Amino acid sequence: MKITFLGTGTSQGIPIIGSDHPVCLSENPKDKRLRVSILVEWDDFTFVVDCGPDFRQQMLRANVSKIDGIIFTHEHADHTMGLDDIRPFFFRQGDIDLYAHQRVFKALEKRFDYIFATENKYPGVPSVTKNEVKNEPFLAGNLNVVPIDGLHYKLQVFGYRFHKFAYLTDMKTIADSEIEKLQNLDVLVVNALRIKPHISHFNLEEALDFIARVKPKRAYLTHISHLLGFHDDVQQILPKNVFLAYDNLQITI
Ligand SMILES: [Zn+2]
Repeated sequence: MKITFLGTGTSQGIPIIGSDHPVCLSENPKDKRLRVSILVEWDDFTFVVDCGPDFRQQMLRANVSKIDGIIFTHEHADHTMGLDDIRPFFFRQGDIDLYAHQRVFKALEKRFDYIFATENKYPGVPSVTKNEVKNEPFLAGNLNVVPIDGLHYKLQVFGYRFHKFAYLTDMKTIADSEIEKLQNLDVLVVNALRIKPHISHFNLEEALDFIARVKPKRAYLTHISHLLGFHDDVQQILPKNVFLAYDNLQITI
């Protein structure tokens, strides 16, 4: 299985428009972060988790020509606003499979009513197939994907486990029964926003505590704000099996 980090930044991305914060001004490519998303590839299958406003640029950058589906964690704009840019995939492949909680589909249907319309569609508008995700394993390609239920402040979000790999973003609270599902992971990806606590995201300390509890072989941090600091500085203070993810990083499991 190959994982590509398409984006590792928090909702505004890094740099933030108009910001003169030193991290936003950094010339290190590892400090430039598009909105969070990953590409998960195995056998002949290619899935994307989330589809934020940088989706088009991310698909071009990673040279993706076919997708088997988009799996959503939740409906926030930084995870969904690129949906219109599935058009090139739709033109080549037909309806695109989306996987999401019923509530997330409701939000998408409101924002992208023209995509979900069933009649009088404007020519060139893409179409999708809805696959509702409940908190139980579902088939993506030939693999059973296991949702991990959590809270982003008061909003329900799903993380996902793909065999020995799990991806959790925008998490603040996770029940013990859900943490049970994360045993024996080779790689865990989890959100770590910044140093100071935040109402809806793990900060660095909470993310490291969570990793220590789950005990994956390796862990990567994502959904990063400029307030976490420079990539190279933060990497130096992390435990030896924990890494700061960065855009374009690829890992094989
Ligand atoms: Zn987010």
